[in-house]
Amino acid sequence: MHEKCGVVGISLSDRDAARPLYYSLYALQHRGQESAGIVTHDGFQQYEHVEMGMVGDAFDGPALESLNGSNGVGHVRYPTEGGVNECCAQPFSVSFKSGSLGLAHNGNLVNADVVRDDLAEMGHAFTSTGDTEVIAHDLARNLLESDLVRAVKATMERIHGSYSLTIMHDETVLGVRDPQGNRPLCLGELEDGYVLTSESAAIDTLGGELIRDVEPGELVVLRPDGSGYDSYQLVDNESTAHCFFEHVYFARPDSVIDGNLVYDVRRELGRRLWEEAGVETDVVMPVPDSGRAFASGYAEAADEDGADTEFAEGLMKNRYVGRTFIMPTQDERERAVRLKLNPIRSTVEGRSVTVIDDSVVRGTTSTQLLEVLEEAGAEEIHVRIGSPPIVAPCYFGIDMASREELIAADRSVGEIETEIGADSLAYLSIDAITATLDSDRSDLCLGCVTGQYPYDVEDEEHDREVTRPTIGAADD
Ligand code: SF4
Repeated sequence: MHEKCGVVGISLSDRDAARPLYYSLYALQHRGQESAGIVTHDGFQQYEHVEMGMVGDAFDGPALESLNGSNGVGHVRYPTEGGVNECCAQPFSVSFKSGSLGLAHNGNLVNADVVRDDLAEMGHAFTSTGDTEVIAHDLARNLLESDLVRAVKATMERIHGSYSLTIMHDETVLGVRDPQGNRPLCLGELEDGYVLTSESAAIDTLGGELIRDVEPGELVVLRPDGSGYDSYQLVDNESTAHCFFEHVYFARPDSVIDGNLVYDVRRELGRRLWEEAGVETDVVMPVPDSGRAFASGYAEAADEDGADTEFAEGLMKNRYVGRTFIMPTQDERERAVRLKLNPIRSTVEGRSVTVIDDSVVRGTTSTQLLEVLEEAGAEEIHVRIGSPPIVAPCYFGIDMASREELIAADRSVGEIETEIGADSLAYLSIDAITATLDSDRSDLCLGCVTGQYPYDVEDEEHDREVTRPTIGAADD
């Protein structure tokens, strides 16, 4: 399961933005490892460097020094719509009659094809299959007739789906969040300027302060001299659709999203998991690293209830196996988990264990993990999952799996328990998620666990294969 992208935009008073953008992209690396890019503007012209690979590789060499200007936007990408190739790497740049644009997009439009066809009929020529180019062309067209704020509003009224955007129009950096706030975007203050970014961890990395989340439907325009920002509520939102999976899995635990510290949310979800489905075993252990905060909350709640359970690490992660790695055959993909996780025998041998993870997608990793623990001598293995079963795909910028690949799409919890070989299996309820996030179901996107989406999606149109290399199963 992969987040599609991370975005950032920075305006500073008196120094180049390239290096702070570069550090921010490092902080957002978990949101995309396929390509990285920065576009800056020095008041006269736009500079760009976009390359395939991780941030460190993409900016290996003199690239940063050539990006002049104290304003810029940056992007890290993992592909969903648009395929894996250089043409879809971002920020997407375009020059037009009255200026230049650089766009960084996190999310997925559900009407990109319709907008693209309309623009093509008006004479726009597209160089990629990605939806970001569609936004860029629509905005460029609107900018020919309107000022910046009106042009962004017209584009927001035209495009549908999920988007958090950082955009550079000439030397002005702006941030836009879709009217339902599906993907995160926040605003921070630096010593000498302002920053817009997917996650507050990037603001921390720059030594800045989180000011607040960008509101759904809001446009925030950073002043090019780094002296402040202006805000416009462009599209009113009757309801929100924040992606609950940002809290469960995608975001860094040290980020604050929509007012909640992700680490605290995961610990609370773990506590509720104990309350809903606790089982007393000799040891409680996380699947590293995604299950750690859940397991710590679960074990703490178990301890408070007087359960005689030890919280311990039972699996070691090989940190040098990348988050994504190419595994050409199914057989190799099945072995990927052993490359990535190794049991600590003394924790599991001869003991009953509860293994805690954040989610189960295909079930491949869980099955293999349980085999590994069984071979290491675990007597009983109980599995507890800190989110509800994933029953449907995501159409809003998450590379999850097709419906056929999801283990919970057509199986009961009991059937999954048998299939992965657990002595017992339990998932967290949707009510526990909403209570923890202090939200109603109508405030959140729960599409992948309910099959009911906040945006109008047609399966036939959107449930299509994306051309990409085969990714190792260790992320499940
Ligand atoms: S469908 Fe799931 S992963 Fe996709 S945006 Fe909604 S909650 Fe997030």
